Amino acid sequence: MEKKRVYTFGNGSAEGKADMRNLLGGKGANLAEMNLIGVPVPPGFTITTDTCTEYNTLGKDKIIELLKEDVEAAVAHVENLMGTKFGSSENPCLLSVRSGARVSMPGMMDTVLNLGMNDDAVEGLVAKTGNPRFAWDSYRRFVQMFGGVVLGVEAKSKEDHDPFEDIITQAKAKKGVKLDTELDVEDLKQMVADFKAVCKEHTGKEFPNDPWEQLWESISAVFDSWMNPRAIYYRGMHKIPEEWGTAVNVQAMVFGNMGNNSGTGVAFTRNAATGENIFNGEYLLNAQGEDVVAGVRTPQQITLVGSRRWADLQGVSEEERKSKYPSLQEIMPDVYEELNKTQENLENHYRDMQDLEFTIQDGKLWMLQTRNGKRTAAAMVKIAMDLLREGMIDEKQAVLMQEPVKLDELLHPVFDAEALAEAETLAKGLPASPGASTGQVVFFADEAGKYKDSILVRTETSPEDLEGMNVAKGILTTRGGMTSHAAVVARGMGKCCVSGAGAVMIDYKARTMTIKDKEFKEGDWISLNGSTGKVYEGKIATQDPELGGDFAEIMKLADKYRTLLVRTNAETERDAKQAVEFGAEGIGLCRTEHMFFEGERIVRMREMILAEDEAGRRDALRKLLPIQREDFKAVFKAMAGKPVTIRLLDPPLHEFVPHEKENQEAMAEEMGISIEAIQAKVLELHEFNPMLGHRGCRLGNSYPEITEMQSRAIIEAALDLKNEGIEAIPEIMIPLISSKKEFKLQMDIVRSTVEKVFEERGDKIDYLVGTMMEIPRATLIADRIAEFAEFFSFGTNDLTQMGFGYSRDDVGKFLPVYIKKGILKADPFQVLDQDGIGQLVEIGTKRGRATNPKLKVGICGEHGGEPSSVEFCHRLGMDYVSCSPFRVPIARLAAAQAALR
Ligand code: ADP
Ligand code: MG
Ligand code: MG
Repeated sequence: MEKKRVYTFGNGSAEGKADMRNLLGGKGANLAEMNLIGVPVPPGFTITTDTCTEYNTLGKDKIIELLKEDVEAAVAHVENLMGTKFGSSENPCLLSVRSGARVSMPGMMDTVLNLGMNDDAVEGLVAKTGNPRFAWDSYRRFVQMFGGVVLGVEAKSKEDHDPFEDIITQAKAKKGVKLDTELDVEDLKQMVADFKAVCKEHTGKEFPNDPWEQLWESISAVFDSWMNPRAIYYRGMHKIPEEWGTAVNVQAMVFGNMGNNSGTGVAFTRNAATGENIFNGEYLLNAQGEDVVAGVRTPQQITLVGSRRWADLQGVSEEERKSKYPSLQEIMPDVYEELNKTQENLENHYRDMQDLEFTIQDGKLWMLQTRNGKRTAAAMVKIAMDLLREGMIDEKQAVLMQEPVKLDELLHPVFDAEALAEAETLAKGLPASPGASTGQVVFFADEAGKYKDSILVRTETSPEDLEGMNVAKGILTTRGGMTSHAAVVARGMGKCCVSGAGAVMIDYKARTMTIKDKEFKEGDWISLNGSTGKVYEGKIATQDPELGGDFAEIMKLADKYRTLLVRTNAETERDAKQAVEFGAEGIGLCRTEHMFFEGERIVRMREMILAEDEAGRRDALRKLLPIQREDFKAVFKAMAGKPVTIRLLDPPLHEFVPHEKENQEAMAEEMGISIEAIQAKVLELHEFNPMLGHRGCRLGNSYPEITEMQSRAIIEAALDLKNEGIEAIPEIMIPLISSKKEFKLQMDIVRSTVEKVFEERGDKIDYLVGTMMEIPRATLIADRIAEFAEFFSFGTNDLTQMGFGYSRDDVGKFLPVYIKKGILKADPFQVLDQDGIGQLVEIGTKRGRATNPKLKVGICGEHGGEPSSVEFCHRLGMDYVSCSPFRVPIARLAAAQAALR
């Protein structure tokens, strides 16, 4: 059979359904599903995502040839259901062409509405509806969208306006009106002509009048948009594979711009910012499509409750609200009732918070989209727990609904309450995306990187701003509501955002903003509270977040279902305590070298390095011993009763000696030797390739006294604590092993030192000796190393470095190119390369356990907190992952999800 590329839907039936989102895209699959469950949806059809992939290899002409018959049949299907005719001048069928990938990519792909419009169709529509204003408004919208999306008309530079918007602004100014709804038929006719002229100037060709040409060009443009830079950037950010492709949805138009008995809106079945279980959303009367999100007019609230809350926030009186900004519930109670029922229906059906689009045409409600709504981390946690309590989902689903990396938002600081009380409120906008941010003002997205902490201030953001929004610490817009581009995107990113702060006046050319006569320049500090919508002057201190409530509940569930243990990488008491608060079950990596830098430590360390002979080194080490012991005690104490893996000295010694003359002089003075002696030593320690040089256990094998001192400090610390009634569980880890003998020699030193301490103290504790697996060779001879080693901890940072042969410190030079060219899918230092490096991990684990079935296995690289890598570790049957403290909750959730999948 010929491959099926087109799936129709309409009038309560559909060829697709919700679980076909891979093939039909999210939008297409849900349009089909809504038909199947009796929700009113305009008829249409979906061209599959596979066709997009074919398009990218076969090209436009070939694809049109392949699609022609099916698309013509599908258009006929729409015509039959609507009783209209595509291309007819008496009774025209108008269409929308919409993109829709597997996962929603807000604003990434553009939509063309009112397709099929031309000079004949518009007259037909005038005659049919008796509403010339509506017909011409639809026409001018079509030319504008087709011009922008398909023909590529855009602003000449970032300081310029969109040429179509310029024409609208001029038309309104000329007439002395504020709103586009105040323009009349003649104005709109002129606008269509002007818009077409802009298009002709841009392309050098007449604007296409033939509906079929319009349709094919639009379908191709949607496919093309999959490869536009914005889409590519978004995919990179969210790790969406290029192969997925986008579907194209073609659908009969329903019109929200037919007058004041029509309108359009977006709604959420629950609050996407806080998770509160309350239906909410925004609408505009006599408007079409993107008017609500584009901030063309101030949108109104759908529910009465929402409307009152909005008025409260905006300082609008009840009287003014009622007359100027009434809720849909008040002005169209019947339509509201139906919408409310539909939203309940959809949420019950999908068992998750839905983000809806609807249009009201002459008093009749049509649904145009439903999807699981994007939400903040706080909402993600609350909604899952609420749905669980409501019996809509079970515990496992609640865990699986979480996006682990998003939890990060909940773990970071909020404004310090006292500092906040003193701060001056400059303006108030809408609480579009919660959180606290402080930074320096920038006015252009591509300049967000200008300061370390920047706040992007715009009238409204657009998809081009995505990259800058990601870089900025917070986003402030002067127009647009809770569903504006800025708000939706910021929530998706977990970025603090205040939208629609109307009191802020921006002058892009002068690079200033004015708030109540006060002028702010680029670079000035402001602060935003995305949970209240307040904008403050200056910097405001922040404080740690609250980790109880639903967050604690969801973590409890994660712990219930995961089998993998989660440890942390920490060497200070502070980090260790923080990690325990986040649920760490031990330390997987305590790097001892970090303990050698501060205060007296570095002096003793240098003394040891500079010593002429073993006796001199031992002398210096004796002074380091008590310092190390105290450090270990502090860490053991913070981890009382939990295992602590301590890695013996790892970095090359040259990292500890001074390289600038000034510091060398200071050191010479401190040590009482000549600067020349210091310089000679520095030179001697110089290596061409220090990362592959004299480091790790190679140090311990050259200077066994270092291993001795460290082992002694560890065991003495543990025994001291035992006396205080605190249990310490040390696991001594020998770094950078590549041969069995290398490990054996170090282990022998550790064990004999420990025995000596036990004897001296007349007491004992349990401890382990193991190794870090970070050299590819070690993973291959893991069976032999495991004859002695009691645990393996995969150091996947070095393993990746040595396995790929990419210097970790230089990879930045070519990584972006490699990602762009598709040589690498992701940064292998962040996401474990399961195909290659993963094999080394697997081989090491299997071979190690073959000789030592009791071998404890964990991972302590950056990957230990990255969800896909955690899942990999779970599948390999590791005992634990270890990651930085702030990633511990993420790893706990990822481990639970891995266990449930
Ligand atoms: P996005 O993915 O950017 O939300 P959509 O394809 O959903 O793009 O469409 C953009 C806007 O156009 C939405 O407000 C949507 O409701 C509206 N729209 C799309 N198709 C139709 C249609 N057939 N009739 C009326 N409005 C439509
Ligand atoms: Mg869009
Ligand atoms: Mg949409």
